[in-house]
Amino acid sequence: MNVLITGGAGFIGSHLAGPLLDAGHTVTSVDDLSTGSLGNIEHLRRRSHFHFVREDIRNEQTMAVLVDRADVIFHLAAAVGVQLIVEKPVHTIETNIHGSEVVLNLANKFARKIFLASTSEVYGKSTKVPFNEDGDSLLGSTRFTRWSYACSKMVDEFLALAYHEQYGLPVVVLRFFNTIGPRQSGAYGMVVPRFVQAALRDEPLLVYGSGEQSRCFCNVADVVSALLKLMDCPQAIGEVINVGSEESITIEALAAKVIAMTGSESTIKRLSYEEAYGRAFDDMLVRRPDLGKVRRLIGFEPRYSLEQTLTQVIEFERSRLKETK
Ligand code: UDP
Repeated sequence: MNVLITGGAGFIGSHLAGPLLDAGHTVTSVDDLSTGSLGNIEHLRRRSHFHFVREDIRNEQTMAVLVDRADVIFHLAAAVGVQLIVEKPVHTIETNIHGSEVVLNLANKFARKIFLASTSEVYGKSTKVPFNEDGDSLLGSTRFTRWSYACSKMVDEFLALAYHEQYGLPVVVLRFFNTIGPRQSGAYGMVVPRFVQAALRDEPLLVYGSGEQSRCFCNVADVVSALLKLMDCPQAIGEVINVGSEESITIEALAAKVIAMTGSESTIKRLSYEEAYGRAFDDMLVRRPDLGKVRRLIGFEPRYSLEQTLTQVIEFERSRLKETK
């Protein structure tokens, strides 16, 4: 098949291309390199059935050609990362809403099966943990830019489901929960690469807020494998599905774990959200997925523990640090 990945030079997109090429597909990756990078796909560009197109997904003319040529589309292009969202809110809202509008409209026009990446952010501050796909969302005030990301992704979900309802477009929507692994950038807010990079440099690890907030981190290889299986699962069409890990850790404990695993001399430094983001900030205390649906559909179980994934990230960041020295 010809597979189109939007956001193909991003963290998850670059991990998705390898298994697709291994399975004998031709992969075209489109990315404007706003947060993705050529470094992420360097290893793929040597492979004969991999093509890269540098383009903004909002360019309808180019996207029409790419969607027409594709048999299936993985739509992962989005503005992500809390830091980026806080610093560039207009970019986030426009990219996420208009970008998905263009891609979904073209998928419908050419009748192509499409995967849409969404996020556990849509549950917001809901306290009904674990988060179930049919549960209510609880977003904060529009005063907090952070919620524009959840809101933009909810609009994407609504639009994908509307295309499915109204025109029968085959869509599969996944809500990712804190996906981590090698190649993830820390530049846009993600906590794990930030902590590992700081620990390897013996710099303080900056824990925002009380440090009592908890997350479940899932290995990108587990996420990609679930994603590929769900795209082959007829019952997943028209569904919104959580994918992640149930292994929960507080951010304070994560910082201590990273320091211990790297043998670092770093200390933990607390920052208020105001200090961290330069403004008031609304965080969620607990985020944990209900994995009942993805288990029923494809028998999903994450293969990697947090410790194993952190080992991979530490090894990756260590070798990157050596290269830059
Ligand atoms: N965080 C932190 N230090 C950092 C980056 C993030 O303490 O350098 C916290 C952040 O406030 C949040 C958690 O770590 O409570 C996870 O942040 P991330 O941006 O990775 O993902 P989120 O779960 O917020 O989408």
